[in-house]
Amino acid sequence: MSGSTALLSRLQDGFARHFCIPTLFAKNAKRMGHGGDGHGHCAISIAVAAAALLIFPAASAQPALAQPALAQPAPGDFRLLFTGDVMMSRLVKAEIDQRKTGPWTIFSDLFHSASLVGGNFEGALGDPAKCPAKSKLCFAAPDAATELMRQAGFKLVTAENNHSGDLGQAGRTETRAVFQQSGLLALDFDGSPQFFRFGELTVGFVAVTTIKAADGRIQQIPSVELAQKLRLARQLANLVVVSIHWGNELQDWPTEAQQQQARWLVEHGADLIVGHHPHVVQAPACVEGRPVFFSLGNHLFDQKYAETKDGLIADCSVHAGRLLCGALSTHTDEATAFPKLAGKNAAADHALAACSPQLGPGAEIGGVSIRPEPWSADQPVNGIILDGFEIDDHGVGKRVWQSRRQALVSLQLVTTMAAEPLLLSLERHNSSIDDEVGLRPYVYAVGPHGLIARWRGSALAWPLIDAVESNDGVLCALHRGDSFLLPDPATKTTRIAAYRWNGFGFTGVKTPPECESVLRQSIR
Ligand SMILES: [Zn+2]
Repeated sequence: MSGSTALLSRLQDGFARHFCIPTLFAKNAKRMGHGGDGHGHCAISIAVAAAALLIFPAASAQPALAQPALAQPAPGDFRLLFTGDVMMSRLVKAEIDQRKTGPWTIFSDLFHSASLVGGNFEGALGDPAKCPAKSKLCFAAPDAATELMRQAGFKLVTAENNHSGDLGQAGRTETRAVFQQSGLLALDFDGSPQFFRFGELTVGFVAVTTIKAADGRIQQIPSVELAQKLRLARQLANLVVVSIHWGNELQDWPTEAQQQQARWLVEHGADLIVGHHPHVVQAPACVEGRPVFFSLGNHLFDQKYAETKDGLIADCSVHAGRLLCGALSTHTDEATAFPKLAGKNAAADHALAACSPQLGPGAEIGGVSIRPEPWSADQPVNGIILDGFEIDDHGVGKRVWQSRRQALVSLQLVTTMAAEPLLLSLERHNSSIDDEVGLRPYVYAVGPHGLIARWRGSALAWPLIDAVESNDGVLCALHRGDSFLLPDPATKTTRIAAYRWNGFGFTGVKTPPECESVLRQSIR
């Protein structure tokens, strides 16, 4: 037995005692008409996994595969890990049932040492019997997959890819709900951005797919909706992570489109891009000063081609206010779908060594630091609650207020529009003006006791698509081409208008050329 094989088997022995996974999977398999004997139940497994999460807080002792480039962890440091495609049906499911163990026993130490582990969940939770009859590739996974992922140490999965719609809308809803019940965020585009807080720092996550799902769902780059989500995340978070499903299957270099999309995402607020879908690794690169993992390849999958058996885990740490990423290699042997760790990926580490962006400032206004309430399994994902923390001589102090849950679509701290700094938010509400759920602009001042509405949602001249402050204090607005008198929400025409803040509301002004460039860049 070689040294590494001995280590592997020792790790497996060690974790086999703690992770008693098969019962849930086998139960589910039975329900679905597959095998599974239900043995191996272990009541302490959940408690042990939960305790492990508590024992290894952010930036705790680094495991064997830590980044050597980083100095000793300091307060405020944290580490994020992202895997590529995780598919838990077909032969993966069969192997879990047969081996009566989860796929991640040898990853547990690593995963539980990180502040957050995310991965792309390729598929939908639900009964395979509900797959559409003509669908050849329907990745329906048992609900128990969530428990395996939770025990492994995952905290976030992205559920926005070409297989998220394999079981239709019902499957999407079940996937989100069952992951949430297990204490994991299943992030899709509509639910983006979601936020996590590590010490004083906030990380925003956005999930996107440019590969059409079975139910037809896809997002466009560029698009106003994505620009707004990135703007909102950028304003409220210190670090913005975009998980994106893109590129061509089995192509191990990024397409021209991926490279353009990466630049657009960075220009609109992304600090870190984790890509997947090609099922093979595409080398990470530094794009406009930000780490971009074009494709992490497969993490847990049953494909047979040799190239699909190698994957990367993006390994990103924040230290002293900067992000630094490298990668760990994984390899899946021929007779199995379970991956194993294959050490640090020197090429990826080298490519990203000089790609160390500084974290963003978040939103500080009027002596208050405004932060979004982080995601939590017992809170709805719709809407955002803002917390105001006072800033004193020692930095950020105690929380002094909390907003109601708001349907924020965009948020911008505007500094040149008025004498005092203000928050410009776009929120989606019904209004008697047009009797539709439309986008409404709000302007808030920030006080010691909460947000003070200076202007609430009254319409500008036409139905609104987007609005941003330009550099010289003008509000640039992208409107639909219809009007409040003759509403036609389906119209494809648009118009751009400009407004100035008069202290009580907005007055229309001549549209400066910069509005065109500020707004058109997010439109196809
Ligand atoms: Zn895919």
